Amino acid sequence: MNVLLFRPRPDKETIGLQNVMICEPLELEYISANIEALGHTCTIVDMIIEKKNVPYFVKLYNPDVVGITGYISHVNIMKRYAKEAKEVNENIVTIIGGVHAEVNPGDFESPYVDYIIRANGIRTFIDILNKLEKNKEKTGGEIKKDEKETSEIIGEEDEIECIYVPGKKPPKKDTTFNYLYPDRDKVNKYRSKYYYMFHRNCTLIKTSFGCPYNCKFCFCRQIMDDQYFARDLEDIVAELETIPETEIYIVDDDFLVGRERILKFCDLLEQKGIEKKYLIYGRADYVAANEDVIKRFKEVGLRAVIVGLESCDSRQLDDYNKRTNVEINEKAVGILKKYDVECYGTFILGLDWTKADFNALHKWIKKLGLVFVNLQPLTPLRGTDIYEKYKPRFIVREDEYEKWDLAHLVVRPDNISVRKYYWYTMVLYYKITANPVSGWYMVKKYGLHDTLKLSFGAVAVNNQYWKKLIEGERCRKN
Ligand code: SF4
Repeated sequence: MNVLLFRPRPDKETIGLQNVMICEPLELEYISANIEALGHTCTIVDMIIEKKNVPYFVKLYNPDVVGITGYISHVNIMKRYAKEAKEVNENIVTIIGGVHAEVNPGDFESPYVDYIIRANGIRTFIDILNKLEKNKEKTGGEIKKDEKETSEIIGEEDEIECIYVPGKKPPKKDTTFNYLYPDRDKVNKYRSKYYYMFHRNCTLIKTSFGCPYNCKFCFCRQIMDDQYFARDLEDIVAELETIPETEIYIVDDDFLVGRERILKFCDLLEQKGIEKKYLIYGRADYVAANEDVIKRFKEVGLRAVIVGLESCDSRQLDDYNKRTNVEINEKAVGILKKYDVECYGTFILGLDWTKADFNALHKWIKKLGLVFVNLQPLTPLRGTDIYEKYKPRFIVREDEYEKWDLAHLVVRPDNISVRKYYWYTMVLYYKITANPVSGWYMVKKYGLHDTLKLSFGAVAVNNQYWKKLIEGERCRKN
């Protein structure tokens, strides 16, 4: 089969992290490696970087199958891509995957979407291709795409286990990961464009799935049905040895799980002589309780940790079931600073906040000397524990997926207007990042070129916030 995989470009309405980071489509690289090993051919098109449209690529590559991945903010775009592919050639089979499809597959129902992957993406993609191949044999060359039609041809025993079927119980997620390494060469032509803030040409690797914690707002838990498992360390290190780039972004929901595991990882890096720089996600309580591990990891390349600090108020941390407190957060930031490991702090802005709360957070961030922060209004994504509670107060329709980007305010705030909420968020960003001290820190540490590049990206995001501010309540389409 000839397979064409698309990574979508976000809608212009989506407040864009793509202005400060573009990362490789790792999940598509996995699909590519594992289907090409079975004799299929595969091309990946990264629409964030490409300038041409979907029909152009469909005509160029003439695929049998088009696969599209993405997040919640891409739902409408992914469905549109499927439609555009079918408009070029109605016999193309379209497959939708990604984390949002796994948790909320019904959102992708469309006459232009043939299969929605409900779980175990790589295995299920292969199952679909196998089924299509069988149909091709039975029909003498025609690739059957209609589910009812195909099951009549090849029989119920060939039903694909993990595709979405309305009303059917969700399948169980795998807790092992035994696949070929991603085919990173497939995106070689885009490679120089991939970066995460100051981490240029950074390469992604996934070493574990799920998270052992259960913060109430977190969507990551839903993706793995609250299960957690990690790959074998030797296998991870062997994969790292295949990567020529120096900057590595470990995209686990939480890489810092287990003292002995991380120390062994560091030992293996040293034994194998692997010299790279690592950007990871980690919890504040781990950092606070394991200073020696951070020190050791720094020696073998730890460069930055994205820490979900979430709040400077312990009561809010309890509300979120974060299982940390303000003292732990402060200790963690202090330890990272001590070992010159950059801390990217992510925060959740409460929906009951007033100006005083925004000011209190600024005071706390200033006290800790944090320069890089991501501020997100509490967003009750469908599938999380807090969704039902806030649903009656949504000010953004659920099918306006492009606005569910963790930057738009989707719930009416309790105490201030939507405009004020956006304004205080912008002011907080300005105070933290757009000041001479932060600017000088970035130039000194990362150079003028990269600081300017990040600043341009920040200006683009800022312009999107201004638009929201001007729209105010009008951001709701009725
Ligand atoms: S917020 Fe982080 S620690 Fe909490 S459940 Fe999600 S991934 Fe795990």
